[in-house]
Amino acid sequence: MNYATMIPYTRHSLDQADVKAVAAALVSERLTQGPQLDAFEVEFAEAVEAPYAVAFSSGTAALHAAAHVAGVGPGQELLTSALTFVASANCGAYLGAQPTFADIDPDTWNVSTETIADAITSRTSAIVVVHFAGYPAPVHEIREAVSVPIIEDAAHALGAHTEHGPVGNCAHSDMCCFSFHPAKAITSAEGGMVTTRSREYAVRLRQFRNHGFVLSNGWYREQRELGFNYRLSDLHAALGRSQLKKLPRFIERRREIAGRYRVGLAGVVDMPPIHLGHAYHLFTIRHPRRQALYEGLRDRGITTQVHYTPVYLNPYYRDSHRYESCPNAEAYYAECLSLPCFPDLTDDQQDEVIEAVRDVLA
Ligand SMILES: *Cc1c(COP(=O)(O)O)cnc(C)c1O
Repeated sequence: MNYATMIPYTRHSLDQADVKAVAAALVSERLTQGPQLDAFEVEFAEAVEAPYAVAFSSGTAALHAAAHVAGVGPGQELLTSALTFVASANCGAYLGAQPTFADIDPDTWNVSTETIADAITSRTSAIVVVHFAGYPAPVHEIREAVSVPIIEDAAHALGAHTEHGPVGNCAHSDMCCFSFHPAKAITSAEGGMVTTRSREYAVRLRQFRNHGFVLSNGWYREQRELGFNYRLSDLHAALGRSQLKKLPRFIERRREIAGRYRVGLAGVVDMPPIHLGHAYHLFTIRHPRRQALYEGLRDRGITTQVHYTPVYLNPYYRDSHRYESCPNAEAYYAECLSLPCFPDLTDDQQDEVIEAVRDVLA
C-alpha cells in the first residue's frame, strides 16, 4: 500500500505565507518569549472575543494549566465526557485528582445537563466540557445547573459558535482550551491556548507556564509554586498567527464538505447532528458495519479513524478504577467512523470517498 497516495482523514493546510512567517521569526531577535508570542495571544483573544488568551506548548499543557488554576487537586474528582481524547481526563490525573466520566446524549454526542447530573458528586472539583467534533456543547445550561468551575475543551471547536457568540469567549465558562496540533482547525505544529475573562486566572496561567515564577522589578524573580516549562516558541507562534488569518476560510470549507457528505451519503449512513455553528473538526458517521467499512475504505486508498474509544475503556483507566459504563458512548463507539474532512480535500477526492462508502455498503 502506498500511503503517500492514500486520502487521509485529516491533514494540515500550509501555504507560502506560513513558510514566510516562520522564516521571518527564525531570523528575528527572539526565538522564544518574544513579539510573535505576544501578538498571537492578542490576535487569538480578538478572534474568539475573549479578554485574555495565554498560549501553551500544547493543548494538553493548556488543559493541565487550566485544571490547576481552577483548583483541581488530590482527593477530588475531575468530570469530563466519556467520548473524548484522553487529554481531557489526564489533566485531572496529573494533579492527583480522580478523572470521572459523564455519558453522552445520543442526539448530540456531547454531555448534557442530565448526563452531568448523573455523574457529578460532592468531590467533583471541575468539569471539562468537550465540544465533540466541533458541535457546541450546552455550556450555558450546564453553567446554570452546577456550581463548580467549568473548563471548555475546545480542541475541536475553534471556529464554532452559538447564540452566545464564538466558542472561546467564555460567556458561560471559567476557561476555554484550544489545541493547534496539525489535525485541528489551525496549526502551530504543536501548541495550545487558554482563553478566559478572569484577569486573575490569566496571571496564574502565565505563572504556571513558566515554572511558577513571579517576575518583579529588574533581575529579581521568585518561584511561588510548582510550575512547568509549557512555553510556546516564537516560531510556533508565528505559524499560529499566519494560520489564524485563514480560519474563516478553513471553517467555511469544512462546512461545505460536511454539506456535500450529507447529500452524497443520505440514507446510506447515520449523519452527525446538525448545528449552524458546527466547526466540523470531524465528520463522523455511524453504521453497524463499521469494521467492514473501515477495511473496505482502506483497501480503496482511503484512511478513516475511530474517534474515540470511551476514555475509561483504556487500560490505564480500566485497571486502576472501577468505572460505571456509559452505554450511549459505548453504543456510539461500536459504530462510529470519521471520514476525510479537511480544507484541502478536493471535490474529486470527496466524490471518491462517497463513491467508495456506497460501494462498500452496497
Ligand atoms: C487534540 C486534543 C487535545 C490535546 O491537544 P494537544 O495539542 O495534542 O496536546 C485535547 N482534547 C481534545 C478533545 C483533543 O482533540
